[in-house]
Amino acid sequence: MRRFFRVAALMVAALSFAMPMLDDARAQELAKDLFGSKRLPAVSSAPKSYGFYSKGCFSGGVAIPTDGAHWQAMRLSRNRRWGHPTMIALLEKFADDAAKDGWPGLMLGDISQPRGGPMLTGHASHQLGLDADIWFTPMPQERLSVAARETARQTSMIRKGGLTVDDRVWSDAHMRLLKRAASYPQVERILVHPGIKKKLCDTVTGDRSWLRKVRPFWGHDEHFHIRIGCQPGSTACKPQAAPPAGDGCDKSLAWWFTEEPWRPNKDPDAPKARDVMKMKSLPKECAAVLAMPSPPSEMAVTLGQGTSLATVTAPPLQPDPPETAAMGDAEMAPNAFAPTPKMSIPLPRQRPGN
Ligand SMILES: [Zn+2]
Repeated sequence: MRRFFRVAALMVAALSFAMPMLDDARAQELAKDLFGSKRLPAVSSAPKSYGFYSKGCFSGGVAIPTDGAHWQAMRLSRNRRWGHPTMIALLEKFADDAAKDGWPGLMLGDISQPRGGPMLTGHASHQLGLDADIWFTPMPQERLSVAARETARQTSMIRKGGLTVDDRVWSDAHMRLLKRAASYPQVERILVHPGIKKKLCDTVTGDRSWLRKVRPFWGHDEHFHIRIGCQPGSTACKPQAAPPAGDGCDKSLAWWFTEEPWRPNKDPDAPKARDVMKMKSLPKECAAVLAMPSPPSEMAVTLGQGTSLATVTAPPLQPDPPETAAMGDAEMAPNAFAPTPKMSIPLPRQRPGN
């Protein structure tokens, strides 16, 4: 008996020693593994983004349906159809507006993982539910099968081996699509290949103020990337500095047509930030976001066309983590993101391939 107590005491001692070690172990875990394995978003009283576009996470995310009248989501196996409700509602509106402008429909690329965070593959950003990729390829008339959505090829707008637009594939409709995307006040930046920016600089007439939002960046020859700002209520979301004044058709664009931005990577095997980012380098709210409960199903948090934001905002099950990144968290005014007393579950939508 005495021996039992001694063992028990030893175990208690070992446990109390191990507890802080566990916290430390979690802090050392790779954030991409933890966030990449979440299948559903974090239910919280209101959607909130924490941290920065390339180092953060979010709660209260919703999914865009795989299909809408004017969009098809691609690469469904990646489970990256998740975003802040404002982003998802904006994409649905954008798809409809673009259709009215004559665009056949949006092919949607990655938005975010269910709770954001760094991804197992791909992007550095897309971590807050506030970034989305849209293909330059117009949507085909037919509904693609799930399998076809995995393998469908995107069309580059840039001449092979060059830095300028391929006029056989570029059209005024592409320009109008970007102009429409830039027209939304929530959209702060649109990333495109520098050759596309140059094409806009050379050809857009009349109102050119929207060009300020269109920023040249590597990649983005097959898709463009829209970024919305930190949303009301996300006081721990770190905003990006506003783009410089003017249309950006200046020296800063000319730099992209020098050899400097295209020099080969001196250390191509160096790990990317996304691959080595540990939990301890994310805002500390992100550990709480990982621990938050999931909604009952994906359908319960899929923002369908005609579904109001309020109906997909789940009731609060758990208090939000205290925020550290910003001060002065004002009371949120009543709006579409306010918790609703009852969650109504949208009717299931037919999925492709079913
Ligand atoms: Zn992107």
